[in-house]
Amino acid sequence: MEHKDAQRVVVVGGGVAGSVVAKSLQFLAHVTLVDPKEYFEIPWACLRSMVEPSFAERSVIKHREYFTNGDIVISAAADLTESEVITADGRRIPYDYLVIATGHADPTLPTTLPDRLNQYVSDCEKIKAANSVLIVGGGPTGVELAGEIAVDFPEKKVTLVHNGPRLMEFVGPKASDKTLKWFESKKVDVKLEQRVDLNSISDGGKTFQTSVGDSIEADCHFLCTAKPLGTAWLKDTMLKDQVDGRGAIKVDDKLRVMGHNNIFAIGDITDIPEIKQGFFAHSHADVVVNNLKLLMKEGKENKMKTYKAGSAVAIVSLGRKDAVAQLPFATVSGRFPGLIKSGDLFVGKTRKQMGLHP
Ligand SMILES: Cc1cc2nc3c(=O)[nH]c(=O)nc-3n(C[C@H](O)[C@H](O)[C@H](O)COP(=O)(O)OP(=O)(O)OC[C@H]3O[C@@H](n4cnc5c(N)ncnc54)[C@H](O)[C@@H]3O)c2cc1C
Repeated sequence: MEHKDAQRVVVVGGGVAGSVVAKSLQFLAHVTLVDPKEYFEIPWACLRSMVEPSFAERSVIKHREYFTNGDIVISAAADLTESEVITADGRRIPYDYLVIATGHADPTLPTTLPDRLNQYVSDCEKIKAANSVLIVGGGPTGVELAGEIAVDFPEKKVTLVHNGPRLMEFVGPKASDKTLKWFESKKVDVKLEQRVDLNSISDGGKTFQTSVGDSIEADCHFLCTAKPLGTAWLKDTMLKDQVDGRGAIKVDDKLRVMGHNNIFAIGDITDIPEIKQGFFAHSHADVVVNNLKLLMKEGKENKMKTYKAGSAVAIVSLGRKDAVAQLPFATVSGRFPGLIKSGDLFVGKTRKQMGLHP
């Protein structure tokens, strides 16, 4: 299916951005996808899957389903040279072009698809068996999980603890206020500016102490604190100087890693000043696919596409029908933004983009 002299493209990270590059170039180059998991997962569907495990059957997708013509290496990238990626299990994968798309690191994720589906089943059993649930972290993950539980299990006491002054600090205060009001209407207890000391669990694991001296009773808890960027593996490599203090990779306007003409970085790991969103990660991937096609065909750098940072737009779902949306012209909450995201959580749309049945 590919030319004998096809150029070798290695994509490190099979998430929102990397999967688009691997899929788009699979018949134009010899593509190798490196990921520690055998599956791609639509990240914004994972909280629904915790209250409805069968939802994950559409949102967790084996890489082989959308990437049918290329090599898949199930291992984490651990090191890098000018011409090879070295994986944690010791494989050396040569490249002509490299695309780094390692997003956020989460070593707790299982490597196989059945194990991931089972994880959702046990999360859901845990929620069902509890009268009270504590969620630690009021970013998008904690907020969306609290919303799912509050709507599907209104009889349960949900407490959401966040160490910052307002929920979802990645968007503006209006969105935070509207979210807080929505939680109040659902009787979710939101505690701001305090931390849960997870080492202080007592009473058989049901009483949690917070940094301001409160005690919270909860039958189970979920940790939804921010995950670090997936760039720790680069810290001793030739790209170490291109990783800033936050772990973000410095890229130029063509999304190449600064100073490296054949290495691109896309998605959440870039230092582009914009909200970290899958929507933008997808746009980065489109730019890089375009640029790689051009480089592989004609090598004409001056025709490469450039990327401009996106505006601060975000939609956070609040259960199955509501959402809060920060749009360019206004911040709104309730059924209207809910209609855009909260029913199917863009799963059908994303599957279609991947060439799969919605
Ligand atoms: C709860 C929640 C809701 C969200 N809702 C939305 C939304 O509605 N709309 C939206 O646009 N965005 C949303 N986002 C943000 C969106 O999910 C991210 O911006 C997007 O996933 C970033 O894509 P990425 O490809 O950079 O990284 P990811 O999708 O995180 O993928 C990273 C990949 O890299 C792999 N990886 C990590 N380390 C290594 C390594 N060393 N070697 C090889 N592979 C590695 C991982 O296994 C993973 O497959 C949401 C995020 C969350 C958490």
